[in-house]
Amino acid sequence: MPQPADTINLERLKALLGGVNRYGFDPETGGYNRPGFSKSDLDCRAWFAAQMEEDGLTVWKDGALNLFGRFGSKEGPCIMAGSHLDTVVNGGAYDGSLGACVALECVRTMKEAGLEPATAIEVVATSEEEGRFGGMLGSQAITGEVTPDWIDSAVDADGIKLTDAMRANGLIPEQVPDAVRPSGSIKAFLELHIEQGPILEQEKLPIGIVEEVSGVCYLELVLSGIANHSGTTPMHLRADAFAGLAEVSGTIGALIQDHGTDQSRITIGHVELSPNHPHTIPGKAVFSAILRDTSETVMVALKSRFLENATAIASRHGLKLETAERSWLSPLKLDAELAERMSALAERHGLPARRMPSGAGHDAQTMQRFCPSGLIFVPSRNGISHAPEEHSDWGDIEKGANLMLQALIDLSGATR
Ligand SMILES: [Zn+2]
Repeated sequence: MPQPADTINLERLKALLGGVNRYGFDPETGGYNRPGFSKSDLDCRAWFAAQMEEDGLTVWKDGALNLFGRFGSKEGPCIMAGSHLDTVVNGGAYDGSLGACVALECVRTMKEAGLEPATAIEVVATSEEEGRFGGMLGSQAITGEVTPDWIDSAVDADGIKLTDAMRANGLIPEQVPDAVRPSGSIKAFLELHIEQGPILEQEKLPIGIVEEVSGVCYLELVLSGIANHSGTTPMHLRADAFAGLAEVSGTIGALIQDHGTDQSRITIGHVELSPNHPHTIPGKAVFSAILRDTSETVMVALKSRFLENATAIASRHGLKLETAERSWLSPLKLDAELAERMSALAERHGLPARRMPSGAGHDAQTMQRFCPSGLIFVPSRNGISHAPEEHSDWGDIEKGANLMLQALIDLSGATR
């Protein structure tokens, strides 16, 4: 006799995630290596597909290597739920994979309880979310944002072309754009993901319901001065590119204080000094600045003030400044009605949750441009992700997964 589907089966979920994480595990670092379109990524997908087939789902993959398992009617629109299976190099056990596993566990729970969805549910394991080739290839292919030109030009950090990486694995790059879904074919998209930040842990809450995702502006700056002998050049006669860079970095705190919000972030994460020699004054500094906020207006203000500061500092140091905007991703609001609905479900089922923004990008934000999308966060220990130390407590995961279950039952109109 089927039982009411109030809760997922945590042990079965643990086993599923453990199965996924047999692929790409590095015993030396304790990290996971499943970069998009690597052998371990493909092997993992094949294993996940076999699991869904065993569950009796209709399983297929599209031209972008997104993997689907459909539960319910074979025709008509679906509610889609899942996340990505790929990892960064030496990544953690939960980022992405947990969301794909939770979606499948929810479907397993529903099947076991004899719940039949009125609108079909599709479990998705998206491909290449971590941006090995830039962007979020899998979800962007579903929403029709991937062009043949982009596919031709996409290259990873080692200079490997996306087209070569795909062909090496028997995949056909020309088929990626075929992954696009007809408009209206996905009624809603739901994703569970680790927070990758410290807020939920700090507030001792198991669940976050994401309302908005920060935008990202990627600037590249070049400060050019004069490389010279570090012993013979008096301090006041230098044009030291590093000194300029350091001063630019030093303005960030006050800049955010005066013109930002509590969601503002500015990071100088990549620096190249030349000649980069202990006995030579740096003649050139090339560096990145990543600006984020959940408000576009704030991002625009931060960018202009940041560049004003850099210009003034360059002139004080006798440096030439060149700037380029590499990319601009606008902030995005996830579906408000869906967030409201999930909050109500969380309350009804005694699952403590708070609304929150996301500082990191996820498939849900791509999908929001196509259909109403929702994102559930579970806490990350010490806020750490993209590292072997990444960890989320199973007690929290269980609560987040149970909210996903209730959301899927609700949205799919499932009945016995
Ligand atoms: Zn992720």
